[in-house]
Amino acid sequence: MLKTFSITDIGLKRKLNQDYVFSSEMQVGKLPNLFVVADGMGGHKAGDYASREATRIMIEYIEDCQEDNPIVVIRKAIELANSRLIHKARECEDYAGMGTTIVAATIIEGCLFVANVGDSRLYLLNEELRQITKDHSYVGEMVRMGSLDEEAARFHPKKNVITRAVGGGNEIQIDFFEIPLSPGDVILMCTDGLTNMLDDSEIRLIIQKQRDVVEKAEALVKAANENGGLDNITVTIIENV
Ligand code: CA
Repeated sequence: MLKTFSITDIGLKRKLNQDYVFSSEMQVGKLPNLFVVADGMGGHKAGDYASREATRIMIEYIEDCQEDNPIVVIRKAIELANSRLIHKARECEDYAGMGTTIVAATIIEGCLFVANVGDSRLYLLNEELRQITKDHSYVGEMVRMGSLDEEAARFHPKKNVITRAVGGGNEIQIDFFEIPLSPGDVILMCTDGLTNMLDDSEIRLIIQKQRDVVEKAEALVKAANENGGLDNITVTIIENV
């Protein structure tokens, strides 16, 4: 059984919330559950359109998809969202340059399937907190190459520059991960408005300290705001009980 809770918060400094979150413990098409976190970018109104619309297109596609393989289902859904956003941006000047990150996850018979484009993250917490997704960002690539450490990356002036986005180009590269879950595992999906405000050890302590999924998610958002709340903050907590 899954216990889940999602929350999105505008933060303290932004005028718009360009994040979008979707969470369903119930079946969506052939997937037994579906969780999506998206962080949009673009000019006035385009960023929130990008994250909301990409998620909507994905859900609509997944609802009708007859494919059994969850990775194929999610890949096709993201590819469709990508081509639709590109089309919209070409059609309408206000939407030029928009894009969104996507982290999508589904849990099927104790196995977690994750798809990722951009720098929103999925973490798995058991004894340790482990980031499953890799950030498709300028600093994320520098960290992986060993030329920057994680702490410096959080404060790097180019930390917001992402190298892959849904809507960012015709050829979209999506990362997939397949992780067997154990009872008691906790999954965190989040946007960079959380991870730029809290480091991994702070995140781990908050999740471990709070009792249920609602308290865990709310405490993370509260802590990110207490540390400055510079960006929109989105958190999904999934407990595999
Ligand atoms: Ca953000």
